[in-house]
Formats: sequence, structure tokens, C-alpha cells
Amino acid sequence: MTTQHRNLRTGQPIWLGKAAPSVKFDALMDDITIDIAIVGAGISGALMAESLTEAGYSVAVLDRRKPVMGSTPASTALLQFEIDTPLHHLAKQIGLNDAERAWKRSKLAVDALRERTRDLGIACEMKDRDSLYIAGDLLDEKGLQREFLSRQRAGFETRYLSHDDLQSRFGIDRGAALMSFDNIEANPRKLALGYLNVAINRGARIYAPVEVATVEPRSRDVLATTKEGRKIRCKYFISATGYELPEHVPKKGHEIISTWALTTVPQREKLWPERCLIWEASDPYLYMRTTQDGRIIVGGEDEEFEDEEKRDAKLTSKTNAILKKLKKMFPRITAEADYAWTGSFGSSTTGLPFIGAIPGMDRCYAVLGYGGNGITFSMVASQLVRGLITGTGDPDENIFAFR
Ligand SMILES: Cc1cc2nc3c(=O)[nH]c(=O)nc-3n(C[C@H](O)[C@H](O)[C@H](O)COP(=O)(O)OP(=O)(O)OC[C@H]3O[C@@H](n4cnc5c(N)ncnc54)[C@H](O)[C@@H]3O)c2cc1C
Repeated sequence: MTTQHRNLRTGQPIWLGKAAPSVKFDALMDDITIDIAIVGAGISGALMAESLTEAGYSVAVLDRRKPVMGSTPASTALLQFEIDTPLHHLAKQIGLNDAERAWKRSKLAVDALRERTRDLGIACEMKDRDSLYIAGDLLDEKGLQREFLSRQRAGFETRYLSHDDLQSRFGIDRGAALMSFDNIEANPRKLALGYLNVAINRGARIYAPVEVATVEPRSRDVLATTKEGRKIRCKYFISATGYELPEHVPKKGHEIISTWALTTVPQREKLWPERCLIWEASDPYLYMRTTQDGRIIVGGEDEEFEDEEKRDAKLTSKTNAILKKLKKMFPRITAEADYAWTGSFGSSTTGLPFIGAIPGMDRCYAVLGYGGNGITFSMVASQLVRGLITGTGDPDENIFAFR
């Protein structure tokens, strides 16, 4: 399976400047036979490996980079159940029933991620945070009212904040906002390494750097071959290769775009009350969160091109543009960047990922966890693919299936 080669990120993401647990990995020196081969040792592969080792399978995770060195350490890690596409917009695209189910599944995934991470004792700076979705050019005050009613109808606890509520409670001078509850912020690198270590403790092996070059479903198993010619025989094969898309997976409705993010200097005393996750109902949107050491992580300014040189060349100008927008929203803060980075980013027409069996390839699965909810969708993927492999199935299989 040839996957695309990308320069996934450039600059210095905050998580790579901080200490993180180590993870054991080896070179692949011999052919192996295993129940499940997972390609990709980012957050998607890590959650999948943990879930499948818990189900009793022997698992090998293979990556052409060192573990957790793809997109995952570039993530700003606002772990939200609110899908990028507003519920009432998604309902127009895929029908009300499926849209509500996708949103509910996303909520369940965030809850499951919180509970499982706590249960497994993974230290990853995880903190529960409410979120503010602020009126912008995609949804103005009236649009937010419509979204509020759609969410309420579907059973989501949501509060509509008027301009005055927003101003007095959070010091934000914008038309209105929706407040949602019980989202999460975390350190995505520690999160992924933590899940990989749980899988390793149950017997999983990580092989890196190993490039998986071909995959061939056969009558009783799947044969994958590395660039160096090593053979991996497995019962099931899972591609969790992030934004380096595999050749044999349908890609209609997907595109790779460019995004920028930064972290300010620490300024605990100047942060907004309650330290909610904040994002705008705009396209592209500005979004922000805080860190344990009192910094602000802020990102956005997305552009619809995938040219990496062009993306990297804009790092300074985009950093300045994001800082300016941040200062406009919170005039008191110190708008100075300590870390700034840029990366490729997946986007789909619905905001939903594609997860499931690869058409025409028996016992082969893929996870394309797109967009601003990438990590939430990695969690959905680990649950859904486990259900398909173990035979219990998944009630939302059709919503996320490759077509
Ligand atoms: C700047 C930025 C901000 C983001 N913010 C958020 C956010 O706030 N919230 C959120 O939920 N999501 C966010 N995301 C999205 C989220 O980070 C991604 O969806 C997630 O990290 C993808 O994880 P992954 O494991 O699928 O991919 P990756 O971490 O990229 O891992 C895939 C791995 O597959 C390996 N690979 C590829 N092809 C092969 C091959 N042929 N052989 C061997 N190995 C291979 C790669 O080397 C890579 O290490 C953000 C992303 C970016 C870039």
C-alpha cells in the first residue's frame, strides 16, 4: 500500500518542546505473523492498538517515522464532541437522523476517551473544559439560535449566551455564543504515547522506522510487505496513516489543506474566566485553549492548498495574523508567541471522517479521521473497527463507511 509522502508539519509545536514518556520500538529484522497489523503510530494507531490488545488480539504497529512523530504532536488537542459542521447544516447534507447520530457518537467518543484515559491511568495533562462557540461569518446570532434549537432537540445540554452574557461572564465582545459542556483539553503526544505503552504492556510490538509498501488480501489472511521486503502476515490489516492517504482508499470528498498554530508566553493571570475552549462559527475559524502552565494555544487561518513550501513560507505572517486576532478578542493578553508551527490538515465536505472496511479488500480497514475533531474521530475509529473485527458490529457503521 503506497501512502502519500508529506512534510506533515514545520516549526516547533509546543508538545515537542516538553518532556514525554518514552516508548519501546524496534527495527523490523524478520518476517512476522500476527493477528493485526496497524500502520501508523499516531493517536489513531495508538487508540486502535490499545483497544484491540484489550480484545485479546496480538498486534504489531508499524511506522515509517518514530512513534508519534506524524501529525499528532502538531495537534492543538481541543477534544470536542461538537463537530466542525453545525448540526443543522450537517442535517441538510446527510439527513437529520444521521446528523444527530454522528453528533451523539462524537459526544460518546469524547466521554469514552476521558473515562478510558482515566481508567488506564494515562498522565496527559487532561482537563475537562466547557466550550464557547462564538458568532462569526458562518453563523451570526440568528444562525446560532437555529443551531441552539437543533442541539436542544437532539438532547444536547447547550446554553445560548447573548452579547451581554458573553461580555459580562467572559469579557468577549461578540454578538452571541453557544456554551457546551464537558469537552477536554490534553497533551496529544503524551496521550498517544500513553495508549501505545498500555498496548505494549499487553504484548503489542512497535516497529519503526518501517515503511509498509504493499498490501494484498489473500484467501485466509492479508500479506503486507515493507519497502525492505520484510513480510507481515496478519488476519486483519488496519491503515491509520493520518493525512498521508493510502493509495487504495476512496478519497472522494476529502482534501488536504494548510493550517497554522502558536502558543503564547505563560500568562496565567491574564487568561479568560473558566478557561473554556473557544472557537468561532466562521470559515476558516480561530480557536483557542489554555495549557496547564498558563499559556494560550491558538490556531486557525486555514487555507485551501496543500503545497508545503507555500505553507511553510507563510509561518511568520500567519503567526502575526493569529496574534492580532487574539489580541482583538482579549486586549489584555500578551500577544507574543513562544512556539509557532504549521501543518497539513484533513478536511471533508461533511466534516465527518471515513472509517471502516476498505471496499474490495477483505479484512482490511482504514481510518481517515479528518478535521478539527481528528482525535475525537480516532476514538470513534478504535471502537468501530474493533466492533467490525470482533463481529459485534457497530450501530454507526454506515454513517462513517467508505463509499
Ligand atoms: C495544527 C493542527 C491542529 C489540530 N488540532 C486539533 C484539535 O484541536 N483537536 C483534534 O481533535 N484534532 C486536531 N487536529 C487533528 C489531529 O491532530 C489529527 O487528526 C490526528 O493527530 C491524526 O492522527 P493519526 O494518528 O491519524 O495521524 P498521524 O499522527 O499523522 O500518524 C500517522 C502515522 O502513519 C505513518 N505512516 C503513513 N504512511 C505509512 C506507511 N506507508 N508505512 C508506515 N507508516 C506510515 C506516519 O509516519 C505517521 O506517523 C489538528 C491537526 C493539526 C495539524
